Amino acid sequence: MYSRLKDGVLEIACPDCAAVTHGLEEVCPACQCEHFRKVSPGDGATMSSGSDRYPYTVTCVNKSGKTIQLQADDFHLISDTPYSDSQEYSYTRNTDAAVVTARWSNKRQCYQRNGHQRVSIGHRNAYWDPCF
Ligand SMILES: [Zn+2]
Repeated sequence: MYSRLKDGVLEIACPDCAAVTHGLEEVCPACQCEHFRKVSPGDGATMSSGSDRYPYTVTCVNKSGKTIQLQADDFHLISDTPYSDSQEYSYTRNTDAAVVTARWSNKRQCYQRNGHQRVSIGHRNAYWDPCF
């Protein structure tokens, strides 16, 4: 399944008709195929705060799928220098980390925490901007 992160939002293209959705739908809104699945516990996630990004794991999803809980993952820089665009990290689950809540925004078509931190589902990503 084709997906990409665009402006902090995970876009998923339908394998049948190429319509783009954002990870909440189970059925393609354009062709009604059933190739999507909702966010599930255990999924990786990325929280974007300004230019920084932090890896999380989804721990809980409510019935509508619009409210999720996430737990911060530990991450460790494995590339040589943090002062580059090619930072590489390894991620490990931390079941003792604080759990945070994010809610789906119809307006922005993504999960949000505190109204401004964007949460994208499906992969973990970390980035620390050395300029700030
Ligand atoms: Zn489709």
